[in-house]
Parts: sequence; C-alpha cells; structure tokens
Amino acid sequence: MDDKVDNKLDGLEAALHALEVMFVSKLPAKLIEIEEALNQFVQNSTNIETIKLLHRLLHTMAGSAGTFGFPEMGLQAKELEACLKPLLTDGHWNALEVNQFAVDAREFLSTSLRSGADKTVASLVSGVAAEPVEVASTKLIYLVDDDLVENREITLQLEHFACEVVVITELHKLAKMLIDRVPDVLVVDLGLPDSLFSGVQEITRIKKSGQLTSPVIFTSNLSSFESRLMAVRAGGVGYFAKPIDITELTERIDTLSALSEPSGYRILIVDDDVDTSQYYAAILRDAGMNVYVLNTPAEIFEIMAKFRPELLLMDVYMPICSGVELSKMIRQDNSFLDVPIVFLSSEDDLEKQFEAVEAGADDFLLKPMIPKFLVSAVSSRAERYRSLRALIMRDGLTGLYNHTAIKEELSAEISIAGRSNTPLALAMIDLDNFKHVNDMYGHPVGDQVLRTLSLLLRQRLRRSDVVGRYGGEEFVVIFPGTNAATANKVLEKIRQAFFKIQQFSEKGDFSVSFSAGIADLTLTQDADELFDSADAALYAAKRGGRNCIILADK
Ligand code: GH3
Ligand code: MG
Ligand code: MG
Repeated sequence: MDDKVDNKLDGLEAALHALEVMFVSKLPAKLIEIEEALNQFVQNSTNIETIKLLHRLLHTMAGSAGTFGFPEMGLQAKELEACLKPLLTDGHWNALEVNQFAVDAREFLSTSLRSGADKTVASLVSGVAAEPVEVASTKLIYLVDDDLVENREITLQLEHFACEVVVITELHKLAKMLIDRVPDVLVVDLGLPDSLFSGVQEITRIKKSGQLTSPVIFTSNLSSFESRLMAVRAGGVGYFAKPIDITELTERIDTLSALSEPSGYRILIVDDDVDTSQYYAAILRDAGMNVYVLNTPAEIFEIMAKFRPELLLMDVYMPICSGVELSKMIRQDNSFLDVPIVFLSSEDDLEKQFEAVEAGADDFLLKPMIPKFLVSAVSSRAERYRSLRALIMRDGLTGLYNHTAIKEELSAEISIAGRSNTPLALAMIDLDNFKHVNDMYGHPVGDQVLRTLSLLLRQRLRRSDVVGRYGGEEFVVIFPGTNAATANKVLEKIRQAFFKIQQFSEKGDFSVSFSAGIADLTLTQDADELFDSADAALYAAKRGGRNCIILADK
C-alpha cells in the first residue's frame, strides 16, 4: 500500500482505495489469466480442472470488478460465470456451444481491457490524494408536494443534515424522475389537489410497474384513520401529519437509508494465498460485506486498527507465523479482545483445531466452503459481535458511544496515532442553556434536541471520526488524523448548521446552540489530560458568551 495516500484517508476508505488501485494495476494480468484458461477450455471442454479454474477466475472477477468501480465488467463476468456453472456438475456442451461461449468471453476480455486502460492507475491515485475534510455521504431525498412554503422549510432543514433534496411539485413528473435517479427516500404528500389521495394512487401505480424501490414516507394535512390506512396500504413506511416535525422526519430518513445499505460487516481475511483470499473476498463482497484482504500477517495490527474488522477470517498455514500464533497475538491486545476469529482452512486435523480454539478462535470452517454457508457463518457471527458491541457501548437515547466506550475509544485512537505518528484532536461539546430548554418546553422536547445534535454529528462527520455522548447534554468527538485547527473548521460548520435548525415544539419553534472546546495531541499524549484540556477550552467558550468554539491553549 502507498503510505502517502494511506495517511490521508480513514481506515475503510483507504482500504477500499488501495484495493481499487491494486485491482486496476493487476487487471491486464488477470484478464490474461482468464484468457489462458479459456484457451485451455476451448481445446478440451470436458476437463473438469480447467472448467473449475475458469469458473473460479470468472467468479473472482465478477465479485471484484463491481466492487472496484467496474459494475458493467462485474455483471458480464457474472453472466459468463453463470453460463459456465452447469458444467461444474453434470452439464455437457457441444462444439457450437463451446464456440459461442468463447466468442462471448473474448468480447468480454477485450472490452474489459479497454475500460481498465481508461481508468489508469495514475488517475485513481491522484483522485485519492485529495484530503477529504467531510466525506459524510449525502442522501438523496425526493420531496413530492405542491405546498411551496412547506417545501422550502423542509428542504432548508434537511440540507443541514447533508441531504440533497429534490422538490417535485407536479405529481405526474415523479415516475420519470425515478428513472433518472433513485432517491434514498421519498417523502410524498398524501393528497395533491387533483384528487384527495392522488399521492397514494400515484405511488401505488408506480410500485405496481416495479419502478419504485425506495422507501416512501407520506405527509398530510390530515391525520384521520382513513388517511393513515391509505398510506399503509400504499406501502408507506412513515406517516407525518403537518406541520411536520423535521427532527423526527430526519431521524426516520436516517434509519430508513441505513436499512437500505447492505449489512456491510467489515471482514478481514488473513491468508497468504492471494487467489483463495480473493475468491472468498469476492463471495463475501457479493453478499454486501466490506472485505479487506491481508496477505502479509506482519501488517495485521496496523490494518486492524485502521479497518476495525468485525470478524477475522484466517488461514491456519502461513509463512512467518501460523494463524494460531497470530490469533494469540491478537487476543493479547486489549482493543481486539472480543473480535470474532474464524479459521478457514483445509486443515482437517482435530488436534490443530483444538489448538486454534484454545488460542481464542471462535470457529473452524473447512475449505472448500460452500459460498452460501460461508456467508451465513460469517454474517451471523459478525452480526452478533455488532449487536453485543452496540449494547455494551451505545447510549440508549442517541445511539452514540456512551461515556465508557468513548473513553476506551480515545485511548485506542491515541495509541494508534502514537504508532503511526499522526495527529488527533478531541472536541468536548456542551449544549447552551439547556436547562432552560427543558424548563420551557419540557423534558421530551429536550430529548429531541439531544437526538438532533447526535444525528447532525453522525451525518456531518467522517466515518472515522468517533462520536460519543459523554454525559447529559455533553458530547465528545474524536478526530483521528486531524489537528485542532482542522477539527475546528469542521466543527464550526456543524455549530452553524445546528444553530440554524428549527427545533419543533407545541409551544413554538426555537433553536439551540452549543459551545465546544478542542484540544489535540500537541498538548498532551495522555487521554485524561486531553479531556481536561478540551474541557477547560469548553468552559472558556461558555465564559466567552457561548455558541462558539475555543481551542485549548498551548
Ligand atoms: P450551560 O450553557 O452553562 O451549559 O447551561 P446549561 O443549562 O446547559 O447547563 P446545566 O449543566 O446547568 O444544565 C444541564 C441540563 O441538561 C440539566 C439537565 O436536566 C439537562 N439534561 C441532562 N441530561 C438530559 C437528558 O437526557 N434529557 C434532557 N431532556 N435533559 C437533560
Ligand atoms: Mg449545557
Ligand atoms: Mg453541562
């Protein structure tokens, strides 16, 4: 991996980009490999070893091309793979069929070679090098309503949460716009003027034609039983009576679009054999997981810290050290004590399996593993790990890391920063005059404000930034790889956005501000002292009149 590029990106992105760059650079060689297997196959189309090889190569290509920015190539490889598949069992082709397959496969090889050349390694690398200050993903929302005032209000608010809102005032245009782009969520008024439930009718119609895959939230001036029933029958997953509580709407959008993302478990495959590991990686990627393949065990700690796998899939035999030794080393490190480790190996010696389990392995899967079983074995364990972590580490109201978790995270991140000699900033955030909010609008409204801030932080920050609720109305953000000045820039935008958000209450809308203090590792390398410095800066911000951010003194 290129260190220069690597340092500028957070773990997951770096991992994916590095793989992407690697994929493009290896593409010609991979295509040649497929071509050679194809030639062998044309010469002798009944040799099962050749068929297996060709199938595996196409399968790997199908999985990886899509992941690395060549969806078309991936699909074509997948078709070829599917076409070849019957031959793996008991299928048989005549000369004509073999010929046709060869023609299709060669066509695929030459188009793939061309598209690979178009996306040169150089352009990929330079594309990666720019520093992403905010790489929070934007969500596309279609807002279908003819109420211009309400639309403007909703749009303004949603845009604070990094949503792109496309307003559609004429219902009949919706179907066409769904063909142009697929929104993450649709927010549709139940009844536009033409008929009482025209919105519902149109959604039902589009759904029937199979064009609608995005979840739909209905809004309406009505809140009658009948209108809610109509919304449910049209497959609506949310119903908001006007005036709309924007925070609640944003939260619903957030959960809905999170659901539509693939499970995305982060899986680290450790195997010295490049081809096999790529093969299993392709299977897991195909099932929607994020996979990082590591062929050199020596880098494991660095990669684990950056990629934060939710499961390790490990080979037993490797050069340098065995998988058993490696898992012992992993279990020695406090931060990785509970990550599931699953051995994937052709090892069928019981003794060895015992040894692996003793070393802290959670399971032992035998190669060759049927893809379906691999996917289910891996996802069930990763899911269990994820939900256990969430229970232990998350705050109930906001879903953010809780006090204990954020302290642990800070220690872990500081030690990573120390090892890689990279900066790190810590921000303490405290809502201004929050007691007044509770007194004035009630505790539930106060809770709503806390959730709004949590949501805003999660949406506006990078994936590698760690957000926690430190206490009542106090939040903490860890910015790995970032100094105080840069963290300040990012947080400043969030501060402004938060203050602009209209908080909804029955006693009228209002807005809330926060103050923050930021400290970084140039002050101290000690987690507690870093907290103290950021806290001191926060109190300076409070004394300075609130609704501002102060950097800790050097
Ligand atoms: P300052 O600007 O100085 O921070 O003033 P403040 O009113 O925000 O600070 P103070 O520490 O006096 O009050 C914090 C309030 O936050 C008091 C407490 O009731 C409220 N609070 C703490 N946790 C929660 C919670 O989970 N929900 C709600 N609604 N309020 C909470
Ligand atoms: Mg406060
Ligand atoms: Mg406080």
